[in-house]
Amino acid sequence: LEPLYSLMIRVRVPGGVASAAQWERMDALADQYGNGTLKLTTRQAFQLHGVLKRNLKKTIQGFNAVLLDSISGCGDVNRNVMFNPNPHQSKVHEEVYEITKAIGAHLTPRTSAYWELWLDGEPEYSSVPNEGEGDFEPIYGKTYLPRKFKIALAVPPHNDTDIFANDLGLIAIEDQGRLLGFNVAVGGGMGMTFGMPETYPRLGDLIGYVPADKVVDVCEKVVTIQRDWGNRENRKFSRLKYTLDRVGLDVFKQELNQRLGFDLEPARAYEFKSSGDAFGWTTGPDGAQHLTLFVEGGRIADRPGQELKTALREISRFHTGDFRLTGNQNLILANVAPEHKLLVQTTLAAHGIQTEAAHYSGLRRGALACVALNTCSLAFAEAERYIPQLIDRLDGVLAELGLLQDDIIIRMTGCPNGCARPYLGEIGLVGRAVGRYNLYLGAGFNGERMNKLYKEMLDEDGIVETLTPLLQDYAQHRQPQERFGDFVIRQGYVQPTTHGLNFHV
Ligand code: SF4
Repeated sequence: LEPLYSLMIRVRVPGGVASAAQWERMDALADQYGNGTLKLTTRQAFQLHGVLKRNLKKTIQGFNAVLLDSISGCGDVNRNVMFNPNPHQSKVHEEVYEITKAIGAHLTPRTSAYWELWLDGEPEYSSVPNEGEGDFEPIYGKTYLPRKFKIALAVPPHNDTDIFANDLGLIAIEDQGRLLGFNVAVGGGMGMTFGMPETYPRLGDLIGYVPADKVVDVCEKVVTIQRDWGNRENRKFSRLKYTLDRVGLDVFKQELNQRLGFDLEPARAYEFKSSGDAFGWTTGPDGAQHLTLFVEGGRIADRPGQELKTALREISRFHTGDFRLTGNQNLILANVAPEHKLLVQTTLAAHGIQTEAAHYSGLRRGALACVALNTCSLAFAEAERYIPQLIDRLDGVLAELGLLQDDIIIRMTGCPNGCARPYLGEIGLVGRAVGRYNLYLGAGFNGERMNKLYKEMLDEDGIVETLTPLLQDYAQHRQPQERFGDFVIRQGYVQPTTHGLNFHV
């Protein structure tokens, strides 16, 4: 008799854009084969949890029928390519979204094994790589990459995909509403291992600028250098960030320019102002209406008095626009038809879902959490299930200090692997043991500086008691517009982390 295995399936959504039909199908599959909930991940993918092994194939066939797949959801390949999920924000966003999809398609493994295993060789859609050509991987070769590879794109001033946390980050450069190209950052990655200071999170380094028509080629060549140069002996050191720090940025750039056959230009000026989402209704330049909804922990579920899953299912049945998953685990109902705006609003209200940003505290709005216990086998501690309760207590402190609506980024993970990018939290909490967390402080609000270890092994009382005097100090002594992450550095609570190599010191 085989044990009753249950599994998680990650479904990729390039740029986070899913149609209403795709949403409806994922919702139904969660009920039919999963645990009745959907998780929106920090990389704009869906996760189905609790799928029994015997239902895996039916589940995959279920989302394949609406043109979704699980290819590159995991493994030593390029993962879901992230981008600001609202292409209707501007013409430039539309263009960058098309490039996002092109990069994702170009770096998708060509193997037909997925189709043979899960779809009996008969996918619903015709994009089977190498159809009729046999298996051949022009980019990954026979051995694939030494480790996973992550790419994100962003249009300043919003760094809502945390591009510097990725192996390859691309910053759109525009001129008067026209996309010119991208600044290229390489070597980001959040993971580390406790007790091994030679492992560290790292932000990407800017290495230059490339015109838009050459950016897919740059992605391919960076991937192939990592394929050839990455550490294949020890997976703890096999991400691109370690390759870069081993060979040096200059050597890497030289090799990249050589493989490209042209030199990257000097990086161009840009400015990121934030890394979070803006909630509520917005109107695009074309007059289209979009609603960004706060989704606590990225969990689409029905709770007493807050039936988010049911509300979204009902909306998916009449909504003619899209569902857009953000890199901050929230959801945009994009391109809402004018005649549907009121219906969307009343449907949400009928199920107890708030659309006003001010309904939530600034801390809660800026929170990210990975699944952690009891879903992730690598977790030492809780994250998604616990952070709402911790925020309740911290909100009490913030309310007394008049800071309740101030945006502060808090991130929590159940282990140091960093899936919810905790080292980019102005307040970062990383699980050490059940109920115990390391506290990190001082990340930049715009995702351009990591935090630093402040205290170890704190329980809930310890976290609240440690943060309370700092927040009091912030309320009294901050400068106009000063962010909490900048303040704790100015006041000397922590030193700034200027590079992954000084994260631990
Ligand atoms: Fe990722 Fe660790 Fe969280 Fe698991 S517990 S989801 S590995 S950060």
